[in-house]
Amino acid sequence: MTDILLWTVNAGWIHPSLALRLLKANLGPLENRCAIEEFTLRQSTEEKLAAITAHQCRILGISVSIWNHTGILQLLRALPPANRPIIVLGGPETSYLGPDSPILEYADYRIIGEGEHQFRNLCTHLLSAAPSEGALKSAYHLYTDEDLQKKLTYVESSRGCPYRCSFCLSGMKNEGGATTGVYEFPLDEFFTQMEILIKRGAHRFKFLDRSFNHNIKRACVIMEFFLKQVESRPHDKDKTAMFVHFELVPSRINDELLDVMKKFPADTLRLEIGVQTLNARTKAAVKRTGDIEKELAAISRITNETKAIVHADLIAGLPHEDLSSFANGFDKLYAAHPCEIQLGILKCLPGTSIRADADSYGIGYSPDPPYEVIQTADITREGMARIKNFARFWEVIVNRNPFPDLLPTIVCGDSVFDQFMSLSDSLLSRLGRNWGLDRAVLRDAVLGCLHSNYNV
Ligand code: SF4
Repeated sequence: MTDILLWTVNAGWIHPSLALRLLKANLGPLENRCAIEEFTLRQSTEEKLAAITAHQCRILGISVSIWNHTGILQLLRALPPANRPIIVLGGPETSYLGPDSPILEYADYRIIGEGEHQFRNLCTHLLSAAPSEGALKSAYHLYTDEDLQKKLTYVESSRGCPYRCSFCLSGMKNEGGATTGVYEFPLDEFFTQMEILIKRGAHRFKFLDRSFNHNIKRACVIMEFFLKQVESRPHDKDKTAMFVHFELVPSRINDELLDVMKKFPADTLRLEIGVQTLNARTKAAVKRTGDIEKELAAISRITNETKAIVHADLIAGLPHEDLSSFANGFDKLYAAHPCEIQLGILKCLPGTSIRADADSYGIGYSPDPPYEVIQTADITREGMARIKNFARFWEVIVNRNPFPDLLPTIVCGDSVFDQFMSLSDSLLSRLGRNWGLDRAVLRDAVLGCLHSNYNV
């Protein structure tokens, strides 16, 4: 029997949850009365339920995110009422849910904002244990050797974001006041922990920091630390086996940061750059800072002057962005040559100001997770559906690039966006769907569309 069970569903086996490990590590004297169980979206509800039942826990803490919300709701509905543990819901999704949200019917308690101290205090109270105080403890020791050697190693050097984009929760102050900007973990201690992880076999690091480069000097110091780790590996094979992944804001990329990035060998540095929009009016409306032309120039310099793998994000469905301005932004971003463009649909997350202002922008969105925008005052429902279909085919045909011989014919013309929109429209009518496609079937369909659309 376990007193406390921490439980979640991860996006995949390779993505272990640092959040659950932080909650356990910060339980103080209750840490050894706590177990962790992690599942993936693909596993059956029965399998997930069996793990909960086997522990016969008194407290069940569940981490809820936007993408596992629906699956967790199904699980809670299936949980037998007899001997049900005390259910505590936390995680990024639960903080701002309205009181009538169905998942909250199953929560005896919910944690709003950062969870470590609140969860410890709640468990201490519920189990009548002796209270313990203290600073936040790291949880890296709870990664197993198998986690470190075979999965991505999630780490955080800072928490929160200094910016206030209206569609995002990371920079918001929450009701409990727990998120008040950015908290930076002391670097000496952080580096000691990283060295231990590397000695234990960690080699694929993914930073959870939301705007890793908001403090450029600190970002350079952290990058230099990992560069040294990459360079100290004796063989080429080992060098390329290590990589580090950071999420950058484009407005904070300067020469100093570029100079460090240039030193990383191929395949060792991965950058996710949140561009989101290249429409100045839209950018102002969603309260994003930065000069668009300078940001594009910075992305071009990274792609031209470094060996980093660059993945740039754009969002469709933002205020004042119609199909033609979105196409224009996409083409400009494509011209900067990031390795991948990830095209996402705006999600009106509970608690965000864009959700509160949705009516004034004519934004309609799904009431259920992931709360995706269905139409806006500037893009019809049909237009949004076309962009969503474009995004799916762009991911499987261009980002994953299964047909490199066809790519020059697929992404060309005066407007890559218009050309690919036409191809993705044709593919959907030909195939009837944009998911679950066999590679050979997809290739035939692409060739068929290219032939009928452009006679190639
Ligand atoms: S910069 Fe990124 S993480 Fe920060 S508030 Fe904006 S979208 Fe969120």
